[in-house]
Formats: sequence, C-alpha cells, structure tokens
Amino acid sequence: MLDKVLIANRGEIALRILRACHELGIKTVAVHSTADENLMHVRLADESICIGPPSALKSYLDIPSIIAAAEITNSVAIHPGYGFLAESADFAEKVENSGFIFIGPRSETINLMGDKVSAIAAMKKAGVPCVPGSDGPLGDDEKENLAIAKRIAYPIIIKASGGGGGKGMRVVREESELIQSIALTRAEAKAAFNNDVVYMEKFLENPRHIEIQVLSDTLGNAIHLGERDCSMQRRHQKVVEEAPAPGITMETRKFIGERCVRACKDIGYRGAGTFEFLYEKGEFYFIEMNTRVQVEHPVSELISGVDIIKEQLRIAEGQPLSFKQKDINFSGHAIECRINAEDPVSFIPSPGEINRYHTPGGPGVRLDSHIYTGYKVPPYYDSMIGKLITFGENRDVAIARMQMALEEVMIDGIKTNIPLQRDIISDPNFHRGGTNIHYLEEKLAAATAADKK
Ligand code: ADP
Repeated sequence: MLDKVLIANRGEIALRILRACHELGIKTVAVHSTADENLMHVRLADESICIGPPSALKSYLDIPSIIAAAEITNSVAIHPGYGFLAESADFAEKVENSGFIFIGPRSETINLMGDKVSAIAAMKKAGVPCVPGSDGPLGDDEKENLAIAKRIAYPIIIKASGGGGGKGMRVVREESELIQSIALTRAEAKAAFNNDVVYMEKFLENPRHIEIQVLSDTLGNAIHLGERDCSMQRRHQKVVEEAPAPGITMETRKFIGERCVRACKDIGYRGAGTFEFLYEKGEFYFIEMNTRVQVEHPVSELISGVDIIKEQLRIAEGQPLSFKQKDINFSGHAIECRINAEDPVSFIPSPGEINRYHTPGGPGVRLDSHIYTGYKVPPYYDSMIGKLITFGENRDVAIARMQMALEEVMIDGIKTNIPLQRDIISDPNFHRGGTNIHYLEEKLAAATAADKK
C-alpha cells in the first residue's frame, strides 16, 4: 500500500496531488527549492524537504537530490506530476532501481513513446490512425527521400524523432527545398536532442488538436475518458481546453477511444496517459503520446466523474481501475482556462507578490491553484499560476459560467492573462466551437495589426 508519497513537483499540480493523497489517507512529502518554501502544498504536506537552489536544474530536475529525499523520509512512491522529470525514462528507472514506486509508466514505455519513430510504429501496429509519412527514419539517399515526399505529397513536415516542445520541425512546400531542409533539421536535432534521426509526415494545414485520456492498470485493464479539444494555442502552448470536443459524436469518440485502449494493452501501458491527435476533415492523426498526467486533466474528470490522480495512485498500488469502460457515462461540458502570471498582450512573465486575491465560485466552478494573498510568484519557473475550470450541463452553460468566473476572479499585484481569457471566452468563433490550432495566433496578430493602425 502507498503509505507515503513524495511529490516531485511544485505549484498547482503538487497541491492537486497532495489533495488526492490526503483524501485517500496517504501521507505526503513535499520537496522544494529555496525559492519555493512558501508554496501552499509545502505548508500542507506531512513533511517537507528543501532539495536545492531556485534553478530547476539543481532542484526539481536533480535526480539524486529527489531520491535522497525519498530515502530520508521513507517514502514509498514518487509522483512526478507533469513537466520537470515526468517524462524522463532515466528518472523512472532510477526511482524504481532505488526501491520506490514510480507513479507513471515503466521506463521502457517512456522510452518507446518518447521516441517519435518508435511511438508511431507501435501505434500503427495497434490500429491507431497516424499521419501519412515515411514510416520510419529517413536515410541518406536523396532520390529515395524525394520519392517519399512525392508519395506523401507536399506540403510535408520533417520532424526529429527525439524532438519535443515544438522544436525540431520544418515544413517543406517545394520539392527544391527538400534535401536542404532534411539536412538542416537533422543538424538541429543532433544539436538539440543529441539524436539526428528525422522522419517525414504529411503537413496538415488547418487541423484541430484533439487528445484522448487513458488510464491503464497493471492487471491488463484499460479505459478511455473521452477526448479533449486543446486547439486554442499560442506557440504550441495550450491556453484553453475543453471536453468534449465540439462536433465529435459518441460513435467517433468510441472509435478513437477504443483504438487508444487497444494500444495501451498492446504496449503494456501503466497509469494515466494521453494520445495526442491532429484532427482534420473528420479524420484523426496520431502525433504523440504523453506518458503522464496533463495540465488539462480536470476537464476530463468533470465530464467522466473519474478522479484521474486518485486512479494513478490506485494503479501504483497494483489495484484494478475503479471503473470499467461501461461505467463511464459522459455528461455535460467542461472548459479550462490556464491562468498565467504574464502580460496579457506582450506575454512577458510577471512574477511578484499577489497583494489581493479573490476566488470565483458558484455552481460548476473549480479553481486549481496554489496561490494566496501575499504569495510571491517566483521568476524561475513556468508562469502558470492556476487553472480555472467550469462545468455545466452543456457547452453554453460551461461558457456562461466561465464568463462569470473570469469576471469574479481578482488577482492583484501582478499581471495575468485573465483579460486575454475573457476575450477568448467571449469570442463568437469560440462560441461556435471547432476553431483550429492557428486560430488564436491569427486573432492575436489581427489585434496587433489593428492597434498599429
Ligand atoms: P512536440 O513533441 O515538439 O510537441 P508534436 O509532434 O506534438 O511535437 O507537434 C507539435 C505541434 O506541431 C503540433 O501540435 C502541431 O501544431 C504541429 N505539427 C506536428 N506535426 C504536424 C503535421 N504533420 N501537420 C501539421 N502540424 C503538425
């Protein structure tokens, strides 16, 4: 049994994990940098340990310090949250080799899905629809590469197999640019990821981003919790997420969900995970799997009634999932707005002290955040300071509640992106639903152009 869990993260997700642990009677250990002594979950945890200076490299990414903290506190398991070490196969392996339970998949699975070429191969085998592409790494034969691109048809995108964070990708629209683009992407991939394997895919011009949440236990059971639409993005960063995705029918959800479940069983997946797809003209195209809990998991929790973090803890204990697929009855609609400490126009981070904080409330309002009046947002980490989530019996109700919640919330002393979120949530195109991944950037560019006039 999980007697004590070490939370290897910070901010809202650390608090979210702590809440789930305490609900289940599990003791918690908070690890934090010297800049994070005042984090809410550090105060609430049963024990806390400082693991290093503000620099994440020397604290939240320092594997020996985290494992030493687990040893000193007699922790049983380590929850990595998202970001930091959550998708480090090396961390997962070291955690388990040191005798602790890693709350996530096996390190081999993280490796398999972390490498895009091997991930795509595994997904194809499981019947998950992928983007038409080179079906494996590109070689050095120019003629062959030209032939592959011709078969896929331009525009195509060259991607680094070891890539991440939206880096190591290049779109090619003209045959004359192909060979040089492959060489450039290869060189960049080698420099950035120490892996020069690149592959080719059809470039989809105006897709939406739709992803499937899965849970898989160690006893061979796997379920999906439906889809989320995360198309509202800026620089590949999600800004607003919702579930279900507008326009996706029950049959489509079942079709794609069942394929993801089969893939989980095929690869012996363990824990919570997300299959990310681009969705265009009614078709899904797998792009990658995230082998961890995601920022936007609450919208799936609200429409499915499943507590994803509690399920992660149960899975780590070796228990079966609490739900079978037939027990999952999707109902209502949920929307999440990420709240960032940043200028709403320039997007420049805005760390500093929150001197007044008022939280919104009422039916269907959930706020996952670690901030409080007097809390100082440090300048060292990601600027996300919370997630405002609303739920309603349908999308219109969820939107109306989000509009009210964004009016009610007050975070003074620092700048936040709340004005931008108000703008997005009242946008008629958002109300219509189904905007593509370029919509927000186009909207921001149009606003900048109008300002300049
Ligand atoms: P990363 O791991 O770096 O996030 P992804 O494979 O998830 O890389 O791709 C990141 C983003 O790049 C996608 O969300 C999408 O916007 C764009 N992208 C990736 N592949 C394609 C493609 N085949 N067609 C169009 N856009 C793509």
